[in-house]
Amino acid sequence: MSRPPLPPRVTVVEVGPRDGLQNETVQVSTATKIAFVEALAAAGLPVVEIAAFVNPARVPQMADAIDVARGIAKQPGTRYTALVPNLRGLAAAYDAGMTEIAIVVAASETFSQRNINQTVDASLTAYASVVHDARAEGMRVRGYLSTAFGCPFEGDVPQARVVELTERLLSMGVFEVAVSDTIGVATPGEVADMVEAMSARVPVGAIALHLHDTRGTALANVLAALEAGVSTFDASAGGLGGCPFAPGAAGNLSTEDLIYMLQGLGIETGVDLDAVVRASRLIAASIGHPLPSRYLKAVSGSDPR
Ligand code: MG
Repeated sequence: MSRPPLPPRVTVVEVGPRDGLQNETVQVSTATKIAFVEALAAAGLPVVEIAAFVNPARVPQMADAIDVARGIAKQPGTRYTALVPNLRGLAAAYDAGMTEIAIVVAASETFSQRNINQTVDASLTAYASVVHDARAEGMRVRGYLSTAFGCPFEGDVPQARVVELTERLLSMGVFEVAVSDTIGVATPGEVADMVEAMSARVPVGAIALHLHDTRGTALANVLAALEAGVSTFDASAGGLGGCPFAPGAAGNLSTEDLIYMLQGLGIETGVDLDAVVRASRLIAASIGHPLPSRYLKAVSGSDPR
């Protein structure tokens, strides 16, 4: 049977230490966070999002971002990135030695208003300064476009709006846009259509996908995106983080589940799956509940940790 050609190599962006831990209620020690990041880098993950330089009153889990960033024994082949919401966060990230950051813009107006109390346009204007200043310091900036496949308040988000905002982010100077299914509602046909619409306007190499497995469609969506030429995917070790809009439901696509499928497809990632499992077990021991990754459960027998 002939199938569409797939990218020979995929970049997996590990978001567990930030997007994962940020949604966990148990406060994890700085030393454990550092050990987790180091284990993920040692597993061969090429990019690790290590923290968010945000207001600690809003996100207590990220209060030690500077200590985490400074405490990591950095590997030369790994890119370390961190979320930055504003110029104050950028200054902290710079002081902590970060050379790459990420910003988040919402595709849905209501989500932007409720989440950061700003219109989408106002957030883009504010982020333009962050991107400018970061690049002036030689830092690379990644953009997240959240709620790109649906909003918990508005429901459907128009594809044309997602394409337009992706173009605007790239024209601001971000090197890549992680098109994010924040509430895990996307299905493969929509993902294929979205990537096709985007590819007509921006280089496919500048498109990453940040998928959630809330309704069990994340891996099917990855396959659809691979067939459409996408070669960068976000994932969280063990599926750490859950879904902030549906307590108890799955959130981030699990790194193990993604790597397992990519390996089966013969796609190179440079990641050692067993070593990711060890990193997930390390963090699972600190958060007080089993992680949702199917692969992790499959290799852990009766103890899904
Ligand atoms: Mg996420």
